[in-house]
Amino acid sequence: MVKKILLGIAIALILLVACFFIFIYPTFNSFLKTETVQFDSSLTIVLGGGGNSGVLVTDSAVVVIDTKMSKPAKELAKLVKEKAGNRKIIVINTHYHGDHINGNNLYKGSTIIIGNYDMDFLKKNIKPEFMPNAFVKDSLMLALGKDTLMLYNLGQAHTFQDMVVYLKSRKLLFSGDLIFDKMNPVLKKESGADIDKWIKALDNILARDIKTIVPGHGKIGGKEIALSLKQYFEDMKTAASDPSKEAELKAKYSSWFNVPSMASTEKTIQYIKDKK
Ligand SMILES: [Zn+2]
Repeated sequence: MVKKILLGIAIALILLVACFFIFIYPTFNSFLKTETVQFDSSLTIVLGGGGNSGVLVTDSAVVVIDTKMSKPAKELAKLVKEKAGNRKIIVINTHYHGDHINGNNLYKGSTIIIGNYDMDFLKKNIKPEFMPNAFVKDSLMLALGKDTLMLYNLGQAHTFQDMVVYLKSRKLLFSGDLIFDKMNPVLKKESGADIDKWIKALDNILARDIKTIVPGHGKIGGKEIALSLKQYFEDMKTAASDPSKEAELKAKYSSWFNVPSMASTEKTIQYIKDKK
């Protein structure tokens, strides 16, 4: 009897480990992979390793947009410090999620800017070492030599306060997680994810003079990546209210990346249904 129980436990453990290596590890591993794009002589974009990041070298400061997590965060900080030399470093967090801010501790003494979240909410959700120290209610202009950065807090959408960063002369927008490119977006009630408000934020982005978008996750694109996420949300809303269209609309996004147990067309449809 005892032998049988032990055998059962051993088999369960082996299956668990196998599941981890087959399903979870490859996703996690690909999540931590990075790709560096030298956009122009002063702007470097580091895709992956958590959220996508930007490093802009200006005459007076080096600006980092989103600081990643774990090892890629350290690699990014090394790159930023090499580029900065004696210049000050300014950090911008598009939102509070760990994959975008868990490198903040590597920029001690820097101004770290985020949207104007409720302070109690931030303290509950961010470890002290990653805590930003400057907050944007509506918008903020950073004029750094010949570069002008506009920070727009678009309010609640993916989280309670989502900020985008617009590099004026390049007409380039760092959207944070307001845009996931060809990926099912992560929706968390406790983060403040609100699909109707998210669609409005995408409309706000689509109305602007933008040539290039760096999404929070996925590849660099143009306005079409904002438009396709808007269409996705519209389609998922239709699927949630009309079961006869659900299969067809889910199939339309079958090539989009899923985050195991976190993001898929099913999860999005359920999220919409639960809100009603
Ligand atoms: Zn996020």
